[in-house]
Amino acid sequence: MAQLSDDCFAFGGPMRSIDETAALIASKLSAVEEVETVPLALADGRVLARDMIAPLPLPPFTNSAVDGYAVRGVDLPHGAETAFAVGGRVQAGMAPDMAVSPGQAVRIFTGAPMPEGADTVFMQEDVRVDDSGRVILPPGLKRGANVRPAGEDVTQGDMVLPAGHRMRPQDVALAAALGFIDVELRRRIRVAVFSTGDEIVAPGTARGPAQLFDSNRFMLMAMLARLGCETTDLGILADDRELIADRLGEAAGTHDLILTSGGVSTGEADCVRAVIERAGTLVFWRVAIKPGRPVAMGVIGGVPLIGLPGNPVASFVTFAHIARPAILALAGARPQPAIPTPVRAAFSYRKKQGRREYVRASLRATDDGGFEAVKFPREGAGLLSSLVATDGIIELGERTTLVEPGQVVRFLAYSSLV
Ligand code: AMP
Ligand code: MG
Repeated sequence: MAQLSDDCFAFGGPMRSIDETAALIASKLSAVEEVETVPLALADGRVLARDMIAPLPLPPFTNSAVDGYAVRGVDLPHGAETAFAVGGRVQAGMAPDMAVSPGQAVRIFTGAPMPEGADTVFMQEDVRVDDSGRVILPPGLKRGANVRPAGEDVTQGDMVLPAGHRMRPQDVALAAALGFIDVELRRRIRVAVFSTGDEIVAPGTARGPAQLFDSNRFMLMAMLARLGCETTDLGILADDRELIADRLGEAAGTHDLILTSGGVSTGEADCVRAVIERAGTLVFWRVAIKPGRPVAMGVIGGVPLIGLPGNPVASFVTFAHIARPAILALAGARPQPAIPTPVRAAFSYRKKQGRREYVRASLRATDDGGFEAVKFPREGAGLLSSLVATDGIIELGERTTLVEPGQVVRFLAYSSLV
């Protein structure tokens, strides 16, 4: 098929698919090896260096799931209500000093250990207490009801979290419940961040009439922080090959990854790719992804470099799909592919075959209880407002050429991408 010269994707030549790119990245990168012991309160988002083994069962002892009355299963009323004498009381935090006697109940509260002999608890809402203080228990409760057996949650000795897992708040809670005060984590990866372009200036400095304030650096640093990286802000580099080569070389000495934006296309002023080719090794520089096709990966001074495109939306999308998996691999994390949600398209859209495309969209509730995706009305890769106004991106596969209203599409929420 003829390509039009105003198509910014009309570079010609073969391009790598995202899946091939991801496999290539995985084969090129090895994880940082250093391990540090970190207090649990600081572990969220970090990568476990070793499998976590449960040193105790959870719950550690069999206990009541409700406030009520504990009895022996053999005494459970059959057919009619039955009055039981109350032979003791166990509160949470108290080790019971009595066993429950035949035909008796013990007053018990949520989380309190079951007294010896008892295996079933009546909820207090289901019983009455008579004038003489006996508790009237109804028939029909199953033996074992309202009891949490020791180890029902976690078995002692189980591997509860694997090495390479990125800690989430619930994982931190599990570690705490198992009595850990700290965890062994891979050290954070150090990422150097540069923007490039003669037209880019830092917010807070004077902006000439043909200049833009740098937005990518701030977006990328924020995304890196969410991935648990230590970032170094190395500012803006002019489109000058020597300067870029020098500064990338310096950064390589003290970082695990260099992330740049801008300057990876084919223009004369697109220096980043040229510098990688001259001063290092270029691994790839074009990927069949829209927005974002010119995205480069290379190695400089033994350190991987990812050159994202300058257009902010292209930078965002390629960060999510190319930089993020690379960062997780360097950090020693297991791959965490974003999980798409199937939703119905509320739009029609045509695309070219052979590249994966991401369309910005918001979700809207439908009458049948589902969601439909409403496409942002414009497509420019420079429209930051399109990222701000939408909830996520719709992933359209390489073979897709047409989306019609009502068709099920794959929605990736921004919150699942960074
Ligand atoms: P480039 O990839 O260098 O060709 O840049 C593509 C477009 O993105 C140009 O319009 C640039 O002005 C813009 N751009 C490049 N870097 C940035 C940045 N750091 N912040 C905002 N826009 C940028
Ligand atoms: Mg540029």
